[in-house]
Amino acid sequence: MKRLIFLFFALLMAGCGPLDRDPEMVTIRGLVFGTYYTIIYYDDDGRNYQEPIDSLFREFNQSLSFYDKNSLLSRINRNEETAVDEYFEVVFKRSQEVARETDGAFDATVFPLVDTWGFGFSDRSALAAEKVDSILNFVGHEKVWLDDGHIRKADERVQLDFNAIAKGYAADLVGELLESKGVTSYLVELGGDLAAGAEKPDGSLWRIGLEIPAKAADAPQEWEYYVEISNQGLATSGDYRRYYEDEDGLRYSHTIDPSTGFPVDHHLMSVSVFAPDGMSADAYATAFMVMGLDQAKDFVENREDLEAYFVYATEETEGFGYHASSGLKLMTRDDL
Ligand code: ADP
Ligand code: MG
Repeated sequence: MKRLIFLFFALLMAGCGPLDRDPEMVTIRGLVFGTYYTIIYYDDDGRNYQEPIDSLFREFNQSLSFYDKNSLLSRINRNEETAVDEYFEVVFKRSQEVARETDGAFDATVFPLVDTWGFGFSDRSALAAEKVDSILNFVGHEKVWLDDGHIRKADERVQLDFNAIAKGYAADLVGELLESKGVTSYLVELGGDLAAGAEKPDGSLWRIGLEIPAKAADAPQEWEYYVEISNQGLATSGDYRRYYEDEDGLRYSHTIDPSTGFPVDHHLMSVSVFAPDGMSADAYATAFMVMGLDQAKDFVENREDLEAYFVYATEETEGFGYHASSGLKLMTRDDL
């Protein structure tokens, strides 16, 4: 489990005033998608919405879980079913849009490669590098499409994998659920991906710390900068806590470049993307890991709706550097 962000609980609490008519802050924590969630919101009567939220997650998993063999996604991957439901349709359409916009850097059909490289259900194939060319024959977002509510594939070996977009989408859905209950001020965090609603009742924004890379996978997390957000999504992709080294000390990332079929291999260590919604932030974060620092920087500067914070490896003393896109305001401890 990896979280590259910090939620400032102490600071959030400090925002609660003494008036007893103030909305109450509610915090809910639990497990979902093999990771943790934390949901914070303000409700006039301090109502607890954990039950409807957990039931939303169950419904979501029946549609989109990659690990549940009976989910709609698993059945579509086995070519047993073609009719999609609403969750599937939304996430599939957005996946295809982001795939086209990023020239295939994000591609939801990449799973057969992910699996061969040992990040899916199987151990890494010793012949992974040799297999890539033949697997690429059935990888590509143009090889699958939606036709009147049904998934169609150009090759029956095409597999869909929404792991790089579903968490952000689920965070958005929790936000929508809370809004349907009249809650406007919320922060939803699922395994490090976020969807923020309106600012807190005292007018302050949601503060999020951005992690700096740790030297070892089990080292304590630290932050140097924080950002303030509302009404947007924030997702982080990165593999300095999720990779493996082979006998020769070579690192393999779990993000695959669909144009080569190989795990990405460049000096970008992580990227945090700010987007209008969590689903988009999640998908672009993975796309940017594929593009690498220079290309992703240009992409973000050409988009009014996106900002990003990049951490990359350098030869310098600390071993890493960072770059924030021009519209992003980084705050430090001095601003607290
Ligand atoms: P991260 O936190 O690094 O973004 P995610 O869990 O969100 O990690 O996404 C990683 C998963 O996305 C991988 O396990 C794989 O299933 C899938 N994936 C890998 N490469 C790509 C890609 N180029 N496009 C879309 N999905 C990908
Ligand atoms: Mg992601």
